[in-house]
Amino acid sequence: MNFNLEKYIDISMELNANTLVWVEDKAPELIPLARQPEAPVNFTWLNFGAHAGTHVDAPYYLFQEKWTSDQIPLSRLMGPCQVLDLTQVESCIEIEDLQQIEIKHNKIFLKTKNSFDPLLEFHGQHITLSAKAAKYLVALGIETVGYDYQTFERGGSNEIHHIFLNESITLLDNLRLIDAEAKEYFLMCLPIKVTGIDAAPARAILFEKNA
Ligand SMILES: [Zn+2]
Repeated sequence: MNFNLEKYIDISMELNANTLVWVEDKAPELIPLARQPEAPVNFTWLNFGAHAGTHVDAPYYLFQEKWTSDQIPLSRLMGPCQVLDLTQVESCIEIEDLQQIEIKHNKIFLKTKNSFDPLLEFHGQHITLSAKAAKYLVALGIETVGYDYQTFERGGSNEIHHIFLNESITLLDNLRLIDAEAKEYFLMCLPIKVTGIDAAPARAILFEKNA
């Protein structure tokens, strides 16, 4: 496929002290250790959880013998992909919602009503994904799943993460898909090369196809 490198949508979340994080996590801190004109340079110390803002989840999050975030092949994070329109779902994405969509790529983004949430506070009733729907995606051979909230599930459960990460499926969380129409794109997502841990902050963009 042919993609336009000048036409892209940034689906990353801004990362700063106001970024909405999981209810039990601390807000990100951007500590100004030095600021001009008092100091010769502007220098900032960053202090936040590995799952703050847009990030890649590694299987190591739940399985200590599986890939850490730096071990995820970058081929999982670059390539043709598809945004699926699930914005009609009111509570939980079920198999039937996914079956209505012709899924053409093994990298997919689940665009839900979460993308329209202003993210001023953690929404306990955010749109989720059912275990059956997650297993359906596994059976389809999906290798990368992007989502538009901190987590697929409510109340701190890791059931859906378990289904995906057990298969070493690559998860991209906290995306902002509001401007991404449901269609095919080329994904470019590069997590920072922090080593040996469960997740890594990332920048994610979708390139448009050439007309
Ligand atoms: Zn995460």
